[in-house]
Amino acid sequence: MALCAAAGAADLSAQAPADTLIYNVAVTGTGPHLSVEARVVISADASIFLDAPPAGAGTSVTAFGASDDRGLTLRVQRTGGGYVVSRNGPGVIRFRYQLAFTDSVSSGSTASGLDATRLYAVTRSLFVAPDPVLYRKIGRPYPLVRLVFFLPPGWRLVANWDSTGPVLAPRSGEDLLQGTLAAASDYRFYDGSAGEAAYTVAVRGSRAFTDSALVDLVSASLRLGAAAFGPVPVPHVTYISDAGRKGRTSGSLQGTASIGLLWEPGEMLERARSHDTFHETLHLWFGGAMEAERWWTEGVTDYFAARFYAAWRDDPRELAALCYESLRNYARIPHRLTITMAAEARSLPGGDNTIRLVYRKGMLAGLLLDAAIRRGSHASATLDDVARRLLTTARTRRSKTVSEAEIGDAVAEAGGSTASREWSRVVAGTEKITDGQVAAALRTVTGVDLPPPPRPAIPKALSKPPSP
Ligand SMILES: [Zn+2]
Repeated sequence: MALCAAAGAADLSAQAPADTLIYNVAVTGTGPHLSVEARVVISADASIFLDAPPAGAGTSVTAFGASDDRGLTLRVQRTGGGYVVSRNGPGVIRFRYQLAFTDSVSSGSTASGLDATRLYAVTRSLFVAPDPVLYRKIGRPYPLVRLVFFLPPGWRLVANWDSTGPVLAPRSGEDLLQGTLAAASDYRFYDGSAGEAAYTVAVRGSRAFTDSALVDLVSASLRLGAAAFGPVPVPHVTYISDAGRKGRTSGSLQGTASIGLLWEPGEMLERARSHDTFHETLHLWFGGAMEAERWWTEGVTDYFAARFYAAWRDDPRELAALCYESLRNYARIPHRLTITMAAEARSLPGGDNTIRLVYRKGMLAGLLLDAAIRRGSHASATLDDVARRLLTTARTRRSKTVSEAEIGDAVAEAGGSTASREWSRVVAGTEKITDGQVAAALRTVTGVDLPPPPRPAIPKALSKPPSP
């Protein structure tokens, strides 16, 4: 194929010569396997380092082999996380492998699954590829990557890489390895634009709501995010909505522009899931365009998602319900009065989101800081002003990272000593957060009284009575 010449010649002649890497990916549709053939042209080094999908990606690599352009077998060394392929001098390396999938249906939006009817995958689980971080470290340009998928008849691919006809062009190593893709014959596609970005929603399977209800939700989340924080940070966002397993509801942003939403069969588009969808969209800003402490990236994002969702529904009770739910979960976290959110992120990574301070207390921190800034500034500033300022700072940095101290400074600048005191209590400290504080903050933010629901919480309508 004429890919290398087309991509390489004109615009790159002035730079160090970049390697080119072409993948041909074949889904046969007959079993949980995918076969990949790749051709890499290396310009300088006589070997190439390739990382395999990490453990836990839901796939395993089998039958890896490499040869030169004449079919002569090249030496392959297995390393801890991948392969080193050596050849004598610059030239062409071909490598091929089969990928076996652990699951036929992906068990969540961060996992992969393949069966005879569909593929859903996070792209790091598919590719044996040079590690973008390593390439950056050694100052070597990442290869120009082109992909061609060979799919069973009638299947269509969903990915947010640029394409010219059947050839897909990730923009970087990160773009190759940090996306989500899916393929099946029965995806339904909806294209639109909101917040100065294009979006594609690809929906598969039927659930207890219409496709248009989901597309409206997605569009609203992008629109409200952009209204608060500025245009969507990427030109095109892909939402892949597939039916997963029961009990495996899941959403995530992969990379900077690809959102996976795995739904239970029969799931409704209710408050919790709509809020999650807003949350994933807002990760385009916090987690995509800007990196920060987890309590901001997850918790404050959750607060903004709740506030914007309630605004979209034009019902502040939606915000109150989500905040009080977080408060109930917060009250069950054993370490809530002993360590800060930042300390938790370092000492207790991973685990169930519902009992982690970075999510639950983080959301409440968003609410309490927002209210304190509004009070301290006599209603002339909000937490949104802080977020915009941090996003501006992040844009100037290659790491996209803002520190906790910088967040604290921005909060103090927006809301003065009132906001600083709240910061000391909630972010720097471990004082208990109470019903009364949450109710007062909700009143400041919404202008209406939203008292806590009576305790104990009203049982769910469908919950079963205890067995005799
Ligand atoms: Zn999240």
